[in-house]
Amino acid sequence: MWGDKRYHTLNYELRKTFGKKVIKLSLDGGFTCPNRDGTVGHRGCIFCGEEGSGEFAASRRLDIREQIKEQKRLLSNKWKTDKYIAYFQNFTNTYSSYEDLREKYFTALFQQGIVGLAIATRPDCLPDKVMDLLEEINRETYLWVELGLQSIHDRSAKFIRRGYPLRIYDEAVRRLRERNIRVVTHLIFGLPCESKKDTLESVKYVASTKTWGVKFHMLYIQKDTDLYKYYLKNPFPILSREEYISLVVDALEYLPKDMVVHRVTGDGKKELLVEPRWTLDKLRVLSGIDRELKLRNSYQGKKIE
Ligand code: SF4
Repeated sequence: MWGDKRYHTLNYELRKTFGKKVIKLSLDGGFTCPNRDGTVGHRGCIFCGEEGSGEFAASRRLDIREQIKEQKRLLSNKWKTDKYIAYFQNFTNTYSSYEDLREKYFTALFQQGIVGLAIATRPDCLPDKVMDLLEEINRETYLWVELGLQSIHDRSAKFIRRGYPLRIYDEAVRRLRERNIRVVTHLIFGLPCESKKDTLESVKYVASTKTWGVKFHMLYIQKDTDLYKYYLKNPFPILSREEYISLVVDALEYLPKDMVVHRVTGDGKKELLVEPRWTLDKLRVLSGIDRELKLRNSYQGKKIE
Protein backbone atom coordinates (compact mmCIF):
# COMPACT_ATOMS: atom_id res chain seq x y z
CA MET A 1 0.00 0.00 0.00
CA TRP A 2 2.90 2.35 0.80
CA GLY A 3 5.71 1.10 -1.41
CA ASP A 4 7.31 -1.88 0.28
CA LYS A 5 5.87 -1.02 3.73
CA ARG A 6 2.64 -1.83 5.50
CA TYR A 7 2.51 1.62 7.02
CA HIS A 8 2.55 5.14 5.64
CA THR A 9 6.16 6.21 6.05
CA LEU A 10 7.53 9.75 5.76
CA ASN A 11 9.90 8.47 3.09
CA TYR A 12 6.90 7.30 1.04
CA GLU A 13 5.06 10.58 1.56
CA LEU A 14 8.03 12.77 0.58
CA ARG A 15 8.84 10.68 -2.50
CA LYS A 16 5.22 10.95 -3.58
CA THR A 17 5.25 14.73 -3.04
CA PHE A 18 8.69 15.60 -4.44
CA GLY A 19 9.23 12.77 -6.92
CA LYS A 20 12.50 11.63 -5.32
CA LYS A 21 14.28 10.95 -2.08
CA VAL A 22 14.20 13.90 0.31
CA ILE A 23 16.38 13.96 3.40
CA LYS A 24 16.17 15.94 6.59
CA LEU A 25 19.07 18.11 7.68
CA SER A 26 19.05 18.41 11.48
CA LEU A 27 19.83 21.94 12.60
CA ASP A 28 20.45 23.61 15.90
CA GLY A 29 18.96 27.09 15.77
CA GLY A 30 20.68 28.15 18.99
CA PHE A 31 17.41 28.27 20.93
CA THR A 32 16.73 27.27 24.51
CA CYS A 33 13.58 25.95 26.16
CA PRO A 34 11.10 27.47 28.65
CA ASN A 35 11.21 24.19 30.51
CA ARG A 36 14.91 24.79 31.18
CA ASP A 37 15.36 28.53 31.52
CA GLY A 38 13.00 28.82 34.49
CA THR A 39 9.93 30.13 32.63
CA VAL A 40 8.15 26.78 32.98
CA GLY A 41 10.81 24.70 34.70
CA HIS A 42 14.53 24.62 35.44
CA ARG A 43 15.59 21.06 34.74
CA GLY A 44 13.64 20.29 31.58
CA CYS A 45 11.81 17.11 30.73
CA ILE A 46 13.18 14.20 32.72
CA PHE A 47 14.54 12.41 29.64
CA CYS A 48 15.99 15.49 27.94
CA GLY A 49 19.75 15.53 27.49
CA GLU A 50 22.18 18.41 27.39
CA GLU A 51 21.61 18.85 23.69
CA GLY A 52 17.86 19.33 24.04
CA SER A 53 16.52 16.15 22.45
CA GLY A 54 18.43 16.68 19.24
CA GLU A 55 21.69 14.81 19.60
CA PHE A 56 22.33 14.50 15.89
CA ALA A 57 21.93 18.09 14.82
CA ALA A 58 24.75 20.18 13.43
CA SER A 59 26.84 22.24 15.81
CA ARG A 60 25.24 25.39 17.22
CA ARG A 61 28.59 27.13 16.88
CA LEU A 62 27.94 27.34 13.15
CA ASP A 63 25.37 29.63 11.61
CA ILE A 64 22.39 28.16 9.75
CA ARG A 65 24.06 28.41 6.33
CA GLU A 66 27.17 26.60 7.52
CA GLN A 67 25.14 23.96 9.35
CA ILE A 68 23.19 23.19 6.20
CA LYS A 69 26.41 22.90 4.22
CA GLU A 70 27.93 20.62 6.85
CA GLN A 71 24.87 18.38 7.09
CA LYS A 72 24.67 18.06 3.30
CA ARG A 73 28.32 17.07 3.19
CA LEU A 74 27.91 14.50 5.98
CA LEU A 75 24.85 12.91 4.45
CA SER A 76 26.01 12.98 0.84
CA ASN A 77 27.88 9.67 1.28
CA LYS A 78 24.74 7.95 2.42
CA TRP A 79 22.08 9.48 0.16
CA LYS A 80 22.26 10.76 -3.38
CA THR A 81 19.71 13.50 -3.61
CA ASP A 82 19.46 17.26 -4.05
CA LYS A 83 16.27 17.83 -2.08
CA TYR A 84 16.26 18.54 1.63
CA ILE A 85 14.02 19.48 4.53
CA ALA A 86 15.70 21.85 7.00
CA TYR A 87 14.80 20.43 10.39
CA PHE A 88 15.04 22.73 13.41
CA GLN A 89 15.40 20.01 15.97
CA ASN A 90 17.17 20.97 19.22
CA PHE A 91 15.35 22.54 22.15
CA THR A 92 12.24 24.67 21.41
CA ASN A 93 12.44 26.07 17.93
CA THR A 94 9.74 28.72 18.22
CA TYR A 95 11.12 30.10 21.48
CA SER A 96 12.77 33.36 20.45
CA SER A 97 11.88 36.79 19.15
CA TYR A 98 9.81 37.05 15.99
CA GLU A 99 12.76 38.72 14.20
CA ASP A 100 15.23 36.01 15.19
CA LEU A 101 12.88 33.20 14.17
CA ARG A 102 12.06 34.88 10.89
CA GLU A 103 15.70 35.40 10.06
CA LYS A 104 16.66 31.78 10.84
CA TYR A 105 13.71 30.13 9.11
CA PHE A 106 14.10 32.18 5.93
CA THR A 107 17.86 31.77 5.87
CA ALA A 108 17.33 28.01 5.90
CA LEU A 109 14.62 28.21 3.30
CA PHE A 110 16.79 30.18 0.86
CA GLN A 111 19.63 27.64 0.80
CA GLN A 112 20.05 25.53 -2.28
CA GLY A 113 17.95 22.37 -2.42
CA ILE A 114 15.80 23.17 0.61
CA VAL A 115 12.24 22.19 -0.31
CA GLY A 116 10.66 22.50 3.12
CA LEU A 117 10.99 23.22 6.81
CA ALA A 118 10.30 21.09 9.88
CA ILE A 119 10.10 22.84 13.24
CA ALA A 120 10.06 20.98 16.55
CA THR A 121 8.51 22.86 19.43
CA ARG A 122 6.26 22.85 22.48
CA PRO A 123 2.54 23.57 22.14
CA ASP A 124 2.84 26.29 24.80
CA CYS A 125 5.32 28.21 22.64
CA LEU A 126 3.11 29.27 19.77
CA PRO A 127 1.98 32.86 20.32
CA ASP A 128 -0.17 34.46 17.60
CA LYS A 129 2.73 36.34 16.04
CA VAL A 130 4.70 33.10 15.64
CA MET A 131 1.58 31.44 14.25
CA ASP A 132 1.35 34.23 11.66
CA LEU A 133 4.96 33.63 10.71
CA LEU A 134 4.39 29.88 10.40
CA GLU A 135 1.32 30.51 8.27
CA GLU A 136 3.37 32.74 5.97
CA ILE A 137 6.09 30.09 5.66
CA ASN A 138 3.49 27.42 5.07
CA ARG A 139 2.22 29.38 2.08
CA GLU A 140 5.75 29.57 0.65
CA THR A 141 7.01 26.07 1.29
CA TYR A 142 6.31 22.61 2.63
CA LEU A 143 6.14 23.01 6.40
CA TRP A 144 5.39 20.79 9.32
CA VAL A 145 5.47 21.56 13.04
CA GLU A 146 6.35 18.84 15.56
CA LEU A 147 4.83 18.84 19.05
CA GLY A 148 6.31 16.81 21.89
CA LEU A 149 3.20 15.47 23.60
CA GLN A 150 4.66 12.09 24.67
CA SER A 151 1.49 10.96 26.49
CA ILE A 152 -2.07 12.12 27.09
CA HIS A 153 -2.03 10.97 30.72
CA ASP A 154 -1.61 13.54 33.49
CA ARG A 155 0.50 11.31 35.71
CA SER A 156 2.92 10.69 32.83
CA ALA A 157 3.07 14.41 32.05
CA LYS A 158 3.93 14.97 35.69
CA PHE A 159 6.54 12.21 35.73
CA ILE A 160 8.31 13.48 32.63
CA ARG A 161 7.93 17.12 33.85
CA ARG A 162 6.43 18.17 30.55
CA GLY A 163 5.14 21.41 32.01
CA TYR A 164 1.82 21.88 30.21
CA PRO A 165 -1.59 20.15 30.33
CA LEU A 166 -3.22 18.21 27.52
CA ARG A 167 -5.64 21.06 26.72
CA ILE A 168 -2.67 23.21 25.61
CA TYR A 169 -1.75 20.54 23.08
CA ASP A 170 -5.37 20.37 21.88
CA GLU A 171 -5.48 24.10 21.51
CA ALA A 172 -2.19 24.23 19.56
CA VAL A 173 -3.34 21.49 17.20
CA ARG A 174 -6.60 23.33 16.58
CA ARG A 175 -4.83 26.63 15.85
CA LEU A 176 -2.24 25.03 13.57
CA ARG A 177 -4.87 23.08 11.70
CA GLU A 178 -6.99 26.20 11.23
CA ARG A 179 -4.01 27.62 9.37
CA ASN A 180 -3.55 24.44 7.33
CA ILE A 181 -0.20 23.74 8.94
CA ARG A 182 0.84 20.10 9.12
CA VAL A 183 1.24 18.84 12.69
CA VAL A 184 3.35 15.90 13.83
CA THR A 185 2.89 14.54 17.37
CA HIS A 186 5.64 12.77 19.31
CA LEU A 187 4.67 9.93 21.64
CA ILE A 188 6.95 8.00 23.97
CA PHE A 189 6.49 4.28 24.52
CA GLY A 190 7.76 2.46 27.61
CA LEU A 191 7.10 5.17 30.22
CA PRO A 192 7.43 3.56 33.67
CA CYS A 193 4.03 4.80 34.83
CA GLU A 194 2.17 3.43 31.80
CA SER A 195 0.63 0.10 30.85
CA LYS A 196 0.29 -0.99 27.25
CA LYS A 197 -3.36 0.07 27.44
CA ASP A 198 -2.36 3.58 28.59
CA THR A 199 0.09 3.98 25.70
CA LEU A 200 -2.49 2.83 23.18
CA GLU A 201 -4.96 5.34 24.61
CA SER A 202 -2.49 8.09 23.74
CA VAL A 203 -2.11 6.65 20.24
CA LYS A 204 -5.87 6.50 19.72
CA TYR A 205 -6.27 10.04 21.04
CA VAL A 206 -3.67 11.41 18.64
CA ALA A 207 -5.24 9.39 15.81
CA SER A 208 -8.58 11.04 16.62
CA THR A 209 -7.10 14.55 16.33
CA LYS A 210 -6.31 13.71 12.71
CA THR A 211 -2.97 15.45 12.82
CA TRP A 212 -0.84 14.93 9.74
CA GLY A 213 1.89 12.81 11.26
CA VAL A 214 3.14 10.92 14.26
CA LYS A 215 6.50 9.91 15.69
CA PHE A 216 6.93 7.03 18.10
CA HIS A 217 9.92 6.96 20.42
CA MET A 218 11.07 4.36 22.87
CA LEU A 219 11.92 5.93 26.23
CA TYR A 220 15.70 6.34 26.28
CA ILE A 221 17.68 6.46 29.48
CA GLN A 222 20.72 8.57 28.72
CA LYS A 223 23.62 9.28 31.05
CA ASP A 224 23.24 13.07 30.84
CA THR A 225 19.62 13.11 32.08
CA ASP A 226 17.66 13.23 35.32
CA LEU A 227 15.89 10.09 34.15
CA TYR A 228 19.16 8.22 34.55
CA LYS A 229 19.49 9.42 38.16
CA TYR A 230 15.90 8.39 38.80
CA TYR A 231 16.50 5.00 37.21
CA LEU A 232 19.55 4.32 39.39
CA LYS A 233 17.45 4.92 42.51
CA ASN A 234 14.22 3.39 41.21
CA PRO A 235 15.01 0.79 38.57
CA PHE A 236 11.90 0.13 36.51
CA PRO A 237 11.15 -2.53 33.89
CA ILE A 238 12.25 -1.65 30.37
CA LEU A 239 10.33 -2.94 27.37
CA SER A 240 12.12 -5.70 25.51
CA ARG A 241 12.61 -5.39 21.76
CA GLU A 242 9.80 -7.88 21.19
CA GLU A 243 7.42 -6.03 23.50
CA TYR A 244 8.23 -2.75 21.82
CA ILE A 245 7.73 -4.18 18.33
CA SER A 246 4.39 -5.64 19.32
CA LEU A 247 3.28 -2.32 20.83
CA VAL A 248 4.30 -0.36 17.73
CA VAL A 249 2.34 -2.74 15.53
CA ASP A 250 -0.69 -2.42 17.83
CA ALA A 251 -0.35 1.35 17.54
CA LEU A 252 -0.04 1.32 13.74
CA GLU A 253 -3.26 -0.66 13.53
CA TYR A 254 -5.12 2.26 15.15
CA LEU A 255 -3.74 5.04 12.93
CA PRO A 256 -5.72 6.44 10.01
CA LYS A 257 -4.21 5.37 6.70
CA ASP A 258 -3.40 8.91 5.65
CA MET A 259 -1.46 9.69 8.83
CA VAL A 260 2.23 9.90 8.03
CA VAL A 261 4.46 7.82 10.29
CA HIS A 262 7.68 9.79 10.70
CA ARG A 263 9.41 7.38 12.99
CA VAL A 264 8.81 4.05 14.68
CA THR A 265 12.18 3.85 16.39
CA GLY A 266 14.78 6.47 17.19
CA ASP A 267 18.54 6.85 17.30
CA GLY A 268 19.97 7.00 20.78
CA LYS A 269 23.55 8.25 21.09
CA LYS A 270 25.66 5.15 21.62
CA GLU A 271 28.05 6.65 24.17
CA LEU A 272 25.23 8.17 26.25
CA LEU A 273 22.58 5.48 26.05
CA VAL A 274 22.22 3.31 29.16
CA GLU A 275 18.97 1.54 28.30
CA PRO A 276 17.50 0.06 26.20
CA ARG A 277 20.67 -0.94 24.38
CA TRP A 278 18.70 -3.00 21.86
CA THR A 279 17.49 0.27 20.27
CA LEU A 280 21.00 0.76 18.88
CA ASP A 281 20.29 -1.96 16.33
CA LYS A 282 17.72 0.10 14.51
CA LEU A 283 17.54 -2.12 11.44
CA ARG A 284 16.62 -5.09 13.58
CA VAL A 285 13.75 -3.13 15.16
CA LEU A 286 12.52 -1.95 11.77
CA SER A 287 12.65 -5.39 10.22
CA GLY A 288 10.97 -6.82 13.35
CA ILE A 289 8.08 -4.40 12.85
CA ASP A 290 7.77 -5.38 9.17
CA ARG A 291 7.85 -9.05 10.12
CA GLU A 292 5.25 -8.67 12.87
CA LEU A 293 2.88 -6.80 10.53
CA LYS A 294 3.27 -9.58 7.99
CA LEU A 295 2.76 -12.33 10.57
CA ARG A 296 -0.44 -10.68 11.74
CA ASN A 297 -1.44 -10.06 8.14
CA SER A 298 -1.88 -6.51 9.28
CA TYR A 299 -1.22 -2.90 8.22
CA GLN A 300 -1.75 0.68 9.33
CA GLY A 301 -5.40 1.37 10.11
CA LYS A 302 -6.53 -2.25 10.14
CA LYS A 303 -8.38 -1.90 13.46
CA ILE A 304 -10.30 1.22 12.45
CA GLU A 305 -11.61 0.09 9.05
S1 SF4 B 1 10.50 20.53 25.80
FE1 SF4 B 1 12.06 19.53 24.56
S2 SF4 B 1 13.92 20.77 24.79
FE2 SF4 B 1 12.49 21.37 26.43
S3 SF4 B 1 13.11 20.15 28.17
FE3 SF4 B 1 11.46 19.02 27.13
S4 SF4 B 1 12.49 17.65 25.66
FE4 SF4 B 1 14.00 19.18 26.36
